[in-house]
Amino acid sequence: KAKRGGRNHFEWYLEGDQSRQHRKVQLRHDLQQALIDGEFRLHYQPIISHTDAVIAVEALLRWQHPEQGMISPSEFIPLAEETGQIIPLSNWVLDQVCRDARVLRQQWPLQVAVNLSPLQFLRPQFRQQLMEVVAHYELPPQALNLELTEHTLVEDPEQAATTLRELQSAGFGISIDDFGTGFSSLSYLKWLPVSALKIDRSFIRDMQNSPRELALVRAIIDMAHELDLTVVAEGVERREQAQALQSLGCDCQQGYYYARPKDFTALLVWLQSRGHWRTGSMG
Ligand code: C2E
Ligand code: MG
Ligand code: MG
Ligand code: MG
Repeated sequence: KAKRGGRNHFEWYLEGDQSRQHRKVQLRHDLQQALIDGEFRLHYQPIISHTDAVIAVEALLRWQHPEQGMISPSEFIPLAEETGQIIPLSNWVLDQVCRDARVLRQQWPLQVAVNLSPLQFLRPQFRQQLMEVVAHYELPPQALNLELTEHTLVEDPEQAATTLRELQSAGFGISIDDFGTGFSSLSYLKWLPVSALKIDRSFIRDMQNSPRELALVRAIIDMAHELDLTVVAEGVERREQAQALQSLGCDCQQGYYYARPKDFTALLVWLQSRGHWRTGSMG
């Protein structure tokens, strides 16, 4: 019989660590088969313009694990990056996004934003592969907005800049995701071909009760506009946040306040019932 009272904090943490470790090992292993077994899904979250029109949707990956249930990409993407599974997985995402975008655009010509992993983006064959998949689904490059984090850009700035220039001249939208959380310098914005900044949701969350956070959000919006960039606020959950962002001149908003991520069928139903949309792009 276990002597509960005899356990000290150190042992508790150790045990927690071990089960976390165990889950990681298990998931890392299960990832190998998950793609073959069709356990991945894409959900989509609408992005709303300051005129209250839907202008884009962001594709967000979901893993429906047979035993563990729905697993968040923040948990399994890092594991897939460790094992190299991120490459076939990212290829699946790109193909599925284009397949869905083609159907979507028959009725709603909205831009579809897709998150790119640094490993995927920095591969020499990435640009060619992307061009092939959009051509295969007969999509204009303007149909896609590629979301990269600052992390991707600092990993290999030269390579990133070259690829981004090619992609931008081909017509793809390019956004910096989770803006403000990276450790990069702001100067890269001057010379990188980027069309939009997505302000990380941590700033939006704290904006209402922290004057410092509010000042940062205002500064990011003003700076982005100086540089002719579109600004998107992530993680908008409440009406007061939406109103504050609107009065700061933020171009677009995304968050549970407007809509949660939903599967493709539910997205189509949601768009139908909402009605107000606009052809356009995040930038
Ligand atoms: P992200 O690209 O910054 O996506 C936004 C995240 O915020 C999503 O989490 C979304 O569900 C969540 N979110 C949206 N609105 C709200 C809100 O109002 N409140 C709160 N609390 N959260 C909100 P999710 O879907 O768990 O994705 C997490 C991250 O995983 C993404 O962050 C992205 O970095 C990564 N990811 C998702 N899909 C893919 C993919 O296909 N490929 C790659 N490489 N990464 C992906
Ligand atoms: Mg994103
Ligand atoms: Mg983000
Ligand atoms: Mg994020």
